[in-house]
Amino acid sequence: MKAQNNDNLTTYMSTYKFYEQVNKNFDKAAKYTRFDKGLLNQIKVCNTVYHVTFPIEKDDGRIEVIEGWRVEHSHHKMPTKGGIRYSHKVDEDETMALAALMTYKCAIVDVPFGGAKGGIKISTRDYSDRELEKITRRYTFELIKKGFIGPAVDVPAPDYGTGAREMGWILDTYRQINNDINAEACVTGKPIQQGGIQGRKEATGRGVYFGIREACNVKEDMEKLGLSTGVEGKTFVVQGLGNVGFHASKYMTEAGAKLVGVAEIEGAIYDPNGIDLNKLMEYRQDTGSILGFGTSTDLNDSSDIFTVECDILIPAALESQITDENANDIKAKIIAEAANGPTTSHAHDVLKDRGALIIPDSYLNAGGVIVSYFEWLKDIQHVRYGRMNKRFDESSFMKIAREIESISGKKFTDEELKNLTHGAEEYDLVDSGLEETMINAYQQIREIRDEHDLDDLRTAAFISAINKIGIMYEQMGIFP
Ligand code: GLU
Repeated sequence: MKAQNNDNLTTYMSTYKFYEQVNKNFDKAAKYTRFDKGLLNQIKVCNTVYHVTFPIEKDDGRIEVIEGWRVEHSHHKMPTKGGIRYSHKVDEDETMALAALMTYKCAIVDVPFGGAKGGIKISTRDYSDRELEKITRRYTFELIKKGFIGPAVDVPAPDYGTGAREMGWILDTYRQINNDINAEACVTGKPIQQGGIQGRKEATGRGVYFGIREACNVKEDMEKLGLSTGVEGKTFVVQGLGNVGFHASKYMTEAGAKLVGVAEIEGAIYDPNGIDLNKLMEYRQDTGSILGFGTSTDLNDSSDIFTVECDILIPAALESQITDENANDIKAKIIAEAANGPTTSHAHDVLKDRGALIIPDSYLNAGGVIVSYFEWLKDIQHVRYGRMNKRFDESSFMKIAREIESISGKKFTDEELKNLTHGAEEYDLVDSGLEETMINAYQQIREIRDEHDLDDLRTAAFISAINKIGIMYEQMGIFP
């Protein structure tokens, strides 16, 4: 394959700001791969961009036009996969950038999907539940009409502003039109009763914790930062207490890390003595705000969270939060990107030059799509994980335990016996698959970083993705 003149393409791509940020990171990594410009461009571009507008009738009878997108970034593997976001900030640029990140994310953690993303430009708080249902169903209908959804085509999932409820509406709408035996696999992150999977809700936050744990377990890396090994005892702050931020914080505190700062829309709080996460959630539920909580200090501005003393900073809200404006003031030594695209390309360089360890989004927040993959597999297999082997395993473990008792003369207590003979339930298998995937991917990225003598995990993660996708294209050839 020969390199070609892609000036028009370059101009086209640079009209998008966030998408261009993603491409800048891609370009940094592409230098370390052997692929020519034409192939690299094919990996970078968004294969299909669908912009749709449709009317809905509001509860008061008025008609409102709703704007949405679905972007399938890469068809090198099918189906394509990625969440649907409801936010007033959604636009084409954001959807394209997030779809591209999904492609790289899936490749990094060996989830066999191309990347996609959808978005509807609405603030959920401006709509009633009935209106949100109408919007979701109509958007799904538009996707069906154009072939942008299906178990083998494109499989949405939750993202910012959406959850299991919306995914349930999507499935129900899809099912009314497609009498497909695999229909349940057309969307993931669904309620359990509709083909969802145990552990999907907490998956992204759980994966964030596993990723941070892996990073903190590398002695040399921690020594460079002047930190001890392990999560235990480390202080952290979180920006955003949504599904991802809450669960990441929950698993971090359970592992012995100390939450010292939290930022939300209404402001930020800091307490070097530690913040009780569950009590804070209850307090916010009651008062509508995190401000004034316990012995913590209210910070002047939500963005001041970035400047407080801590070991680990977890941005778990939206993109472009760490910028040239605040990168120099960040004191955290580890930046754990739970959100998608929280750090601009230049701010990344500033942090890196100051010696910070950045655990990149494309790896760290992949837990959601990893467990989505397990859900999709469950739906096309039509059987719950653990159903076939749980009881068989338990009786085998029981035989072994009884054998040990008779050989050793020791009698296990009921509690010991219960633990020893426990057969894996769906949640156990999902959690173990997620942990295994996060551990393996971290090792792969670290190896690439060391092989190229880089001091940067983001570039290493991109190299990993580009190599995997590039090799696939080389093997497939380009359709004549
Ligand atoms: N929205 C999530 C993400 O950004 C999950 C996507 C999925 O499960 O398909 O990774």
